[in-house]
This record gives sequence, structure tokens and C-alpha cells, in this order.
Amino acid sequence: MTVDFLIVGQGVAGSVLAWTLDQRGCSVLLADDPALPSASAVAAGIVNPLTGRKLVRTWKADELFPFLHQFYSDIEKQLGVEFFHPKNIYRPFRSINEQTDYLALIADPETRQYVSESTDDQNYSPYINNPFGGLEVTQSGWLDLSEFVRIIKGYFVRKNQYFEGGVTVNDLTIIGNRTVWKDIDVHKVIFCDGAMARENPLFDWLPYNPVKGQILTAVVENYSISTIVNQGLFILPVRKGLVRIGATYSWHDLDWQATDDGRTYLEAKVDAILKVPYQVVAQQAGIRPSTKDRRPFIGIHPTQPAIGIFGGMGTKGVSLAPYLAEQFARHLLDGEDLEPEANISRCVSLYHGS
Ligand SMILES: Cc1cc2nc3c(=O)[nH]c(=O)nc-3n(C[C@H](O)[C@H](O)[C@H](O)COP(=O)(O)OP(=O)(O)OC[C@H]3O[C@@H](n4cnc5c(N)ncnc54)[C@H](O)[C@@H]3O)c2cc1C
Repeated sequence: MTVDFLIVGQGVAGSVLAWTLDQRGCSVLLADDPALPSASAVAAGIVNPLTGRKLVRTWKADELFPFLHQFYSDIEKQLGVEFFHPKNIYRPFRSINEQTDYLALIADPETRQYVSESTDDQNYSPYINNPFGGLEVTQSGWLDLSEFVRIIKGYFVRKNQYFEGGVTVNDLTIIGNRTVWKDIDVHKVIFCDGAMARENPLFDWLPYNPVKGQILTAVVENYSISTIVNQGLFILPVRKGLVRIGATYSWHDLDWQATDDGRTYLEAKVDAILKVPYQVVAQQAGIRPSTKDRRPFIGIHPTQPAIGIFGGMGTKGVSLAPYLAEQFARHLLDGEDLEPEANISRCVSLYHGS
């Protein structure tokens, strides 16, 4: 048997890349080990073109955002499913000063294009502390990641192109431009193993800077806000009476365990924003595959032309993966140049292997 691509890891990165290559007519085998942890199984799935206290435009937002909206909704239409939810993000101002600063920031047309013309603060007031008003970010929303991963898995299972289990470098016999895995002749193996890439002997030289994150799920009865609220933390309504609240950022204690400290931190923040009672029903933790220069890791191994990586998606896998998977597919199939800022060739001076 011969396949064009073996994709190792089915978080958002592996799912999006496998789908993209499949739609280009390639034969794709998708593998994932359910015994390993996955950041995509924890993440809120929010896409947000203006982030942080300074409303900074996400890297390449003007390309990423139109592309991702089209990408996820095209899959929904093609498969007759629903997992992508375009929603505005309401940003209540913390103070009069912040209101003034934000109004100055959105005078810039590059930022303004992502801000709603009108925001109904009254609508939020029964639930959210917003004495200084707020603004709504557009072109945002959230991807139901568990559902997305489940649907993409089902698509490849039905095609008999899914392997449930681990694939390690030791399992691969690399013969120049091709690889043999379990008697299958593979043209290229692409690792989409998220934060686990730090333990992958072929890619452990890449400068990762992983960030642990924790998130709560809470019941909030009679909460009728359908948009995402964000003020240093997000409140994401996932269905009637149920919200996700997050997230924490920690560069130490890099395990996948939820902690009391994480919960206390998030509860203190949500108490300052939410006016109505809530009850935490779940808490999860994950490791974001962030990188030192905050750009993804995409490309072909410096000395193994049959092996590649599509990872380092950090805090924004849902926004980055669709556009960058398209770029990677064009690179792999049409020989086009990769986005230099995302190409692992920028780190090649760190590679000392054979
Ligand atoms: C609390 C929290 C909140 C977040 N919120 C958001 C958000 O709102 N929006 C957003 O865009 N991002 C968010 N993120 C970041 C997001 O989780 C990541 O950007 C994204 O999930 C990374 O996807 P990935 O596919 O690269 O890695 P992962 O999702 O970790 O997937 C890697 C997969 O590879 C598999 N795997 C690894 N090694 C092997 C192997 N050897 N063989 C087979 N399978 C293997 C694992 O089982 C796993 O399924 C959040 C993260 C956290 C922790």
C-alpha cells in the first residue's frame, strides 16, 4: 500500500491539514493516539482578530480571518454538520481611561474594520459589569473543537484512512525521500503532535516555549448573552445555561493537571465581571504548543526530506491552522515558498543532528 501523507496527531492542526490535503486529491492517512493528551480537547476554540489590552491585530489577521470563516463553513456545508459559531466578542471597558484609549485605537481604520458600528451596552448590563460601556469585535467566534475533531475523525474513518494509536519516529523506516510505516509506503510523514513535539527526536531542537492553560465550565442559569464576553478572561456561552471561562497562562508546572490555584484565579476574575451567580461544574488543563518567537513551526526537516512538521500553533491554533495548511499544501504540492516567518528553516542554526 502507498499513501501520499501520514499525518501524526489529530488536534486542530492535524485535522485541518489532513482535510486540506485530502481536498487537494492526496491520499492521507490520519493517526492519533487517544491515550495522549491534546490541547485541542481543552481549548475554547475562540477566534479573535483583536487581542490583548491594546487591541493588537492578530499576526496576518487580514489573511487569516476571511480564510478561516470560509474554511470552517465550507466543511460544515459539505458534510451537513455544524461546529463553527461566528459571534461578536464584547469587550467591556475597565475605566473611563480605557474607554478613551480604546476609542483612540479604533480610530485607526486597520483596527476599526474589526469593530462593530454599534454596541448595545444595555443588553449586557443585567449580567456583566459594564459601567463604562464597551465595544464589540467582529469577524470573531468559536469553533466547537471536540465536535470538529470528531467529525474529521469520522470522515477519515469512513474512508478507511484512520489509525487509532501512536506513531513514533522509531516506528518509521526512513529511506531517503520516502518512509515505510507498518508496510505502508509513505511519501511524506507530517508531525502534528502539538506540545508533544518537544519529545519528538526529529523536532526537539525547535525552540518551543509551552504555556499551560486552565479553563472552567460553569452553569449560569438565565444567562441570555449569546456573544463572547472578554475582559482579561473570556466567558463563552456554549449552550443554554452553560459557559466556558478561561484561561490561565503559566510557563512553569508544565503538566496537564488542573489545580486549585488555577480555579481560584479564574473565579476571582469572573467574580469581577459577572453579576449573576454561577456554579463551576468542570475544570480542565492543557499545554499550548507556543514558540519562543510566537510564530508557528511549519516545514520539512533539515536533513530528512520525507518528514515534516505542522505545529507550534500556540494560543491560536483555530485561527492559524486553515490559512497555514493551505500555504503548506501549496508548498508540498506546487513547490510554492512557505511563509518565511512560519518556516522552520528560520531555526536551522539550532539543528545539530545528522
Ligand atoms: C486552556 C486553553 C484554552 C485555549 N483556548 C484557545 C482558543 O480559544 N482558541 C485557540 O485558537 N486556541 C486555544 N488554545 C490553544 C490551542 O489549544 C492550540 O493552539 C491547539 O489546540 C494546538 O493544536 P495541535 O493540533 O497543534 O495540538 P494538540 O491539540 O495538542 O494535538 C496534538 C495531537 O497529537 C496527538 N499525538 C501526539 N503525539 C502523537 C504520536 N506520537 N502518535 C499519535 N498521536 C500523537 C495527541 O494525542 C493530540 O491529539 C487554548 C489552549 C488551552 C490549554
